[in-house]
Parts: sequence; structure tokens; C-alpha cells
Amino acid sequence: MTRVLVVGGGVAGVAAAVAASERGADVTIAEGSGSLAYNKSLLPNLLSGGCPPAGLHVADLNDISERFGIEVRLGEHVVSVDSDSGCVRTRSGRLAFDALVLATGSLYLPDDLKGVSKPGVFMMRSFDDYLALSRALTGVSRVALVGSLPLSLIVAEAISRTCRVSVFLGEGSLPRFPRHVLGMISKAAAPRGVQLLEGHLDAVVGVKRAEAVISAGTVHPCDGVVVLPRSSPSLPALDCIRGDHGGVVVDDSMRTSCRGVYAAGDCAEVRFGSASLPSRLHSSSLVMGDAAGINAAGGMARASLSRCLALDLFGVELCTAGIDAEAAKKMGLDATEVDSGEDGGSICTSLVYDRTTHRLYGIQVAGPGALSLSDYVSFVVSSGARLDDLAYHESPYLPHFNRDRSPISLTAGQALARARR
Ligand SMILES: Cc1cc2nc3c(=O)[nH]c(=O)nc-3n(C[C@H](O)[C@H](O)[C@H](O)COP(=O)(O)OP(=O)(O)OC[C@H]3O[C@@H](n4cnc5c(N)ncnc54)[C@H](O)[C@@H]3O)c2cc1C
Repeated sequence: MTRVLVVGGGVAGVAAAVAASERGADVTIAEGSGSLAYNKSLLPNLLSGGCPPAGLHVADLNDISERFGIEVRLGEHVVSVDSDSGCVRTRSGRLAFDALVLATGSLYLPDDLKGVSKPGVFMMRSFDDYLALSRALTGVSRVALVGSLPLSLIVAEAISRTCRVSVFLGEGSLPRFPRHVLGMISKAAAPRGVQLLEGHLDAVVGVKRAEAVISAGTVHPCDGVVVLPRSSPSLPALDCIRGDHGGVVVDDSMRTSCRGVYAAGDCAEVRFGSASLPSRLHSSSLVMGDAAGINAAGGMARASLSRCLALDLFGVELCTAGIDAEAAKKMGLDATEVDSGEDGGSICTSLVYDRTTHRLYGIQVAGPGALSLSDYVSFVVSSGARLDDLAYHESPYLPHFNRDRSPISLTAGQALARARR
């Protein structure tokens, strides 16, 4: 029986372990902490009281042990991997494997914001930090919030139920969306007491606790500061090739450059032409974990990834898959973008495609009804569809949306006309 060792008990690790055990492998999960990971996507729900703490783990420990026969070794932190001898070193000994799946996720980076240790500053790294903020919210009236998009907007919306929020965007725009989409969200957020501000946070100031933040020389009074720290891939010492963003490079079977070693989730980066791309999404981690587990157990599976995201932010519906034009250019693709958007009530669509082959690399849709297109958008990108496939593609007629052609099909038609000029 193939011995599959999965390192990390998060979304990707549990998916890999279950998939490998369903194919008859003898599976062990080595998890460094004292429990399986939390489903991090649900953490913001703690702030609006939407999800009871009991439902936050990615899986039930007893269930995966009893139902799937998986051995879960908690507190087993893997320090290094030796793929030649088929063994990992842990803090307490060694574990042998025939195939290894790395699913070690990401690690928060230290934040060098001045004044961050003052009382009233909430550094959001763990379940306990979200719980602490949730409890403190009743005593806070104005919060300054900083972190990467779109998470900062998700958290701002959750806490805006009880207080006013100023979100400092840095130079950030919503990843993969054209800039005017952030304008749509800003307009929708304002009546909810949420202000989106350009500029970085330079410091937190106050005598005994956080009383204000400083950004570009301006003082913004507040009585709470929320910091969503940046993170980067977390990995034990190993010889596999690393990608442009610090993760282990994998192909679409989740194989790394080391024989018998697979990787999935936030610690992995998928090869894309001469570059590599991280996904850092729950949905990608799940699919990568499935494929890695099947292949580690001797099967043949290919992850069909689209890096898709679907969100409703302050009533603005958004969905996206694939990459934006800037990322495409960095990867040496001859990609261009067509954007049907205006900052109005209508739906905005942008497509990123190769002007020679017409292959689609990215789709972004924002506005009423966008969420209903999210699975379609994901499939179009992951299946490598071309503008020609979409421009005259039939989609169901939805009278309540007051449109008889899909906005994606219309935008593909515009792009095709432009590409043929
Ligand atoms: C607040 C928040 C909200 C999010 N919201 C969304 C969302 O709405 N939609 C979306 O798609 N994604 C979202 N994400 C991203 C998503 O949660 C991650 O992509 C996903 O959790 C990654 O899963 P993973 O299994 O790779 O890593 P993790 O869930 O981080 O699990 C990694 C596990 O490995 C263990 N580990 C690490 N190193 C070792 C070691 N050396 N030895 C043994 N064990 C080790 C860790 O203890 C951990 O349990 C969000 C993330 C955050 C933080």
C-alpha cells in the first residue's frame, strides 16, 4: 500500500488526504499545530456573528480518522524534507513516505507599522484575534483599517454594522478589476459609514491607546485600528524549485521538481509559461489538494484551476477568474483588455485575451447579476476558451435581468471586432 504523507491540515491538506485515502493509500497527516486548521474564509463571519465558532474547522478530526482511516498527528511540525531518502524530519523525529503532499499554507509577515503595539490596535492573524475584535466592537465608534484588497473590504463591511470605518487602500486597486470598479464599491459603501481612502497608513498615534492614525501627513481620529497583515508561503526546508512569489512550483498535476513530492494550496505556485502564479484561494486549495492526493496515491488527475472569486461587497456583485492584463504582460503573453464598463448601475465586463490566438486569460464582471455568472466565468477561463467561442455563445434568456444577450458574449464580440481590425 502506498504510504502518503500530507504535511499540513488545512483545506488543501485535508482534501489531499481524503482523496489519497479514497484511492486506497495509507495516509498520515502531519499538522504542526494542536488542531486541524480553521476555514479562514469564514473568519470575517465572526465579526458579524454569522458563523458559530464550532463550525469553523476545515474538517472534523474524528470524522476523517474514523470514516477515512487517516492517521492525524497533531503537534507534528515538519522541519525539512529529504525526497531522495523518502523521509521528513519533524521536531520530534522522522516520518517515512512513498509520496509526500506539501500543504503548509502561508505565514503572516511581521508588520512594521509605527505604534502597532498600542492598545486598541487589532492585528488579525488568528481565530482568537477575530474573536477579540468581535467582542471589542461594541465599545468602538470609528475604526481605521488597513490590509490587502479584497479582504479589507470584506472585513470593513462586517464591522460597519456597529461602527464607522476608514479603509486605507495604499496604492491598491481591487486585484484583477479595472479601477472604476473600486469607484462603484466606494459609492455603495459610503451610506454604510465606510470611507475608502487612497494612501498608506504611516503610524498609529495616541497617549495610552490608539487615538488616531496618520496618513500622508493628515491625522485621522479613530478609537480602533484593524491591521490585516500580509502573508507569504510557509514551507519546510526542501530542494524543490521555488516560484516568483516564494511558493513551490507545481505543474497541473501538482508535481514539484522533486520526485514523489506534490504541493497544493497557498504554499504552491502553478507554472504558467515561463513564470509561476500563486492562487491563495480556498477554491484553488481544494482542487489542488484533490489532484495532489489522487496523484500521490498513484492516480492521474489534473487540476483545472481558474483562480476564481465571487463576492458581494456593499451590494456590488463581483466575479472574476484568471489573470488581469498587467499580469499577462509580465508573463510574456500578448494579452490585451477590453472593458465594457462605466461607473453606473449597469454591469461592467472586462476580458483579457491574446490578440493573436484569441484565447481568454481572464474575465472580470461587476454589477447586478454578476454572481450568477461566476461558475460560467470560472469554466470559460479554466477550459481555455477563445473569444470566438464566446461571441456567439447562447446563454439562457433571463427576463428579470432585462437583457437578452450575456454581457460576456457582448464584450467578447467587441473584443473580436477589435482583434480583427
Ligand atoms: C481572513 C481570510 C479570509 C479569506 N477569505 C477567502 C475567501 O473568501 N475566498 C477564498 O477563496 N479564499 C479566502 N481566503 C484564502 C484561503 O483561506 C486560503 O487560500 C486557504 O486557507 C489556504 O489553505 P491551505 O490548506 O493551503 O493553508 P492553511 O489553511 O493555512 O493550512 C495550512 C496548515 O499547515 C500547517 N503547517 C504549516 N507549516 C507546517 C509544517 N512545517 N509542518 C506541519 N504543519 C504545518 C498549519 O498549521 C495549517 O494548519 C481567506 C484567507 C484569510 C486569511
